[in-house]
Amino acid sequence: MATSNTKNCILCNKSDARSCTRCRSIHYCSKACQKKDWPIHRHLCSTFASFDPPEQSTDHQRIKAIFFPVDETKPQMVWLPWNWRMFEDTRCQFPDPYPFLGLDESRRMLSRVDTIFQNKVLGRELSDLIYIHYIDNFLNDGSKVNKSIETITGFYGTSQHWRGPMIAYGVVGQHGVHDIVCRDIDLGDFRHIVDFLQMYCGRPPEEAQLKMFHLTTEQLFALGR
Ligand SMILES: [Zn+2]
Ligand SMILES: [Zn+2]
Repeated sequence: MATSNTKNCILCNKSDARSCTRCRSIHYCSKACQKKDWPIHRHLCSTFASFDPPEQSTDHQRIKAIFFPVDETKPQMVWLPWNWRMFEDTRCQFPDPYPFLGLDESRRMLSRVDTIFQNKVLGRELSDLIYIHYIDNFLNDGSKVNKSIETITGFYGTSQHWRGPMIAYGVVGQHGVHDIVCRDIDLGDFRHIVDFLQMYCGRPPEEAQLKMFHLTTEQLFALGR
């Protein structure tokens, strides 16, 4: 708790919060809020802190993203590549998450992307959208239970497991599919993702799904062409 800045506390949204001294990727107004967030934040704080920036080369087209592997108990920080594509007359940045989901070109339509635009647990809208990309039919296609999501949500052995791999990344603002500009994900986003997943895993999927704005990969991909 050293760096002073104008960011808001992730929990209570008070301004002038200070960053976690280890990862510098999330902000708290007080020790009390920091302590309250720790059960979630602990899963990625040191991982984020030791995640090195890429070599400063010509390849700047990568953003920090969070990958949720099926067979490991911890989420991972990864670099997600993106490319320019035209949408109507606008150049948009489109990430390429398919290799993380184990999908090649011919099977990319099997995935789905959802947008997290609010945090119902903390009761507020997000200023920047978070996209989560996963296997669309994971409940019925034999996908394995996602152990990293099981760990962070604390829901073991429930009927509402999240299955298959997932990757989460950020875009600037609340735009949806227009004028997509990618951004590095941070650990404030991680808190919002965990809250979303806890709602999903603790409640019937239909109920949690209502809180999201749906976009099939097919729609997103068609728009990007
Ligand atoms: Zn606070
Ligand atoms: Zn931290």
